[in-house]
Amino acid sequence: MKYCSSRGLESGLSFRDVLFAGYAKDGGLYVPEEFPKLTLDELKSMAHTSYPGLVFEMARKFISEQEISSVQLKDLIDNNIKKFTTPEVVEIKQLNGELNIVELFHGPTLAFKDLALSVVGGLLNFYLKENQQNITILVGTSGDTGSSALMSVRGEEHTDIVVLLPHGRCTRTQELQMTTIIDDNVHIYRVEGNSDELDEPIKKCFHDESFVANHNLISINSINWGRVMVQIAHYFYSYFRLCGEVGEVVQLLVPTGAAGNITAGCIAQKMGLPITMVATVNTNDIVARTLSCGDFSVKGEVVKSLAPAMDIQVPYNIERLLYLFTDQDRQRVRCLMEKFERENRVRVPEDVMTSLKQTIVETFVASDDDIKSAMRRVYEENKYVVCPHTAVAAAYHYYQNESVGVPRGVLATAAPDKFPEAVTESEIPVKMDSLQHLETMPTKSMWMRKGEDWYGILRTKIEEITDRRKYKSKEIKKG
Ligand SMILES: *Cc1c(COP(=O)(O)O)cnc(C)c1O
Repeated sequence: MKYCSSRGLESGLSFRDVLFAGYAKDGGLYVPEEFPKLTLDELKSMAHTSYPGLVFEMARKFISEQEISSVQLKDLIDNNIKKFTTPEVVEIKQLNGELNIVELFHGPTLAFKDLALSVVGGLLNFYLKENQQNITILVGTSGDTGSSALMSVRGEEHTDIVVLLPHGRCTRTQELQMTTIIDDNVHIYRVEGNSDELDEPIKKCFHDESFVANHNLISINSINWGRVMVQIAHYFYSYFRLCGEVGEVVQLLVPTGAAGNITAGCIAQKMGLPITMVATVNTNDIVARTLSCGDFSVKGEVVKSLAPAMDIQVPYNIERLLYLFTDQDRQRVRCLMEKFERENRVRVPEDVMTSLKQTIVETFVASDDDIKSAMRRVYEENKYVVCPHTAVAAAYHYYQNESVGVPRGVLATAAPDKFPEAVTESEIPVKMDSLQHLETMPTKSMWMRKGEDWYGILRTKIEEITDRRKYKSKEIKKG
């Protein structure tokens, strides 16, 4: 399996190359040069595989044997998935009104990002140990990526991690989940800005090629292919658990932000999994506008919603979707993306939309009121609490419940425990206090204040980290 840039100026790369990279050198995202196709018989043979087993099957298809042996790969997946609280890892709850909740949140930080990041952390560590190398991971987060990434690499010898979080825009619990991680290799900035604003200095760092090389800088935002790859597995798992018979179609409703999750679903579909999807978003509706009528354009500022992990205006994985639905026409992706970058808008061509709509059959925008009423209704009918992100998809289920004709699942991307404010605002009489212990734990973080030079601060920090490491390794050599 080889990788290329979605914009075509690089190709022939290994999995390891793209795992350790951020953006491609031409500004694109890394993607597989081709997608493996599964036959119906192959699908049937996987139908009873466990979730970790499916992660292995998918990773094996996208990482060649020369890069990691099957024994090593299997060990690595099993060891990292041990951190999950339920043995099945992913559980499905069948609620009233044909509402099937696919619980993807049983990881260490109670969000679905743990599924991918725990394995990606393991893969990074595997190669770092093998080559005695060090890296600095740079993460911008709108809430959940940060804590999930931190949990997957805290205390690791070969890794430092710098996280920028949008202060006041993720929930207090989410912020505490990050700032209470105080290991020496962890560096957290609370930024006075929104998640798109804090992406700017990060993007600038990644676009400076020699800086990236000198400091072994890597990204594990969903621009990282490794994450998308691991996420393909939960679509297979959901499918097998929800379909009556392998071969029939299942519809999955996906709470969507930067579109890394739904991209994995589209890849699963391309590989031959009979699913369709609905992209559901909060009032930040760029993904819905793009996928419903081809209007890929930035309109206004990011709006703070009850589902903060989806408060995003520049969903970078749209680029991977364009690659998929142009049938891997990199030249075309490059033209479209360069126009988007120049003008902040581009129209997705008709033929691409037609092909896309066969997989992502509908989009749905939920307001904060829609989120609250869906949370309340799920609770009233089932005594079950969903998180506000999951509620975005549940709202679509209630809105469009008639005659789907196929089994349907709502991907539950986080546990409600992370969002006690939203639960209270929805007038659900359940106390979400399982994370209250965070309030009394020691914290560690730094600031990026409004008006300061965030890019400068970030560069200096990264240089410091590299210097400290060089100093440390000298000390060790001296004995
Ligand atoms: C990250 C996140 C999302 C959005 O996922 P994308 O892959 O960015 O579309 C949705 N819900 C929760 C809880 C998240 O943490």
